Amino acid sequence: MKCPFCGYQEDKVVDSRSSSEGASVRRRRECIKCGRRFTTYEYIEDMQLMVIKKDGRREAFDRKKIQAGVARACEKRPVSIEKIDDLVTNTERFILKKFDREVPSTFIGELIMTKLAQLDDVAYVRFASVYRQFRDVNQFMSELKNILDKGASFERLIKPKAKIKPNKKKKKK
Ligand SMILES: [Zn+2]
Repeated sequence: MKCPFCGYQEDKVVDSRSSSEGASVRRRRECIKCGRRFTTYEYIEDMQLMVIKKDGRREAFDRKKIQAGVARACEKRPVSIEKIDDLVTNTERFILKKFDREVPSTFIGELIMTKLAQLDDVAYVRFASVYRQFRDVNQFMSELKNILDKGASFERLIKPKAKIKPNKKKKKK
């Protein structure tokens, strides 16, 4: 495996372990040249599951796409890479168990949303807003209200987006 830091081709595996029920193997590697460590994951490649998109087109199921979407939603949130990987692995395993050939993209999206909601409320809202492409503000607000009703604080939901400075216009002259 090529070292991502220096490009050297040789490394040694310093740790190797299977994820839950052996769906993947995680290997911690150390570059022989520069000594830095990196992680690789091993999965079964050939599954040929197709995803039915909303417009009826099919595309090959791609774990990386799910991973990227979840990681984006969890950006700057207190969610570890291991947690994200577990979520993706569990989602993938569930789908492969339930569907032989084809799975609707909506099913995948809803499944991920359910899992994210248990993991981090901010990540959930982010993912849901991208995934569902809320038709209007009211729809988004009702979704938000559901989450707030579950006890999340509104401040926590809006804070990570941007530091909002107090509006200077409101200052008294
Ligand atoms: Zn290296």
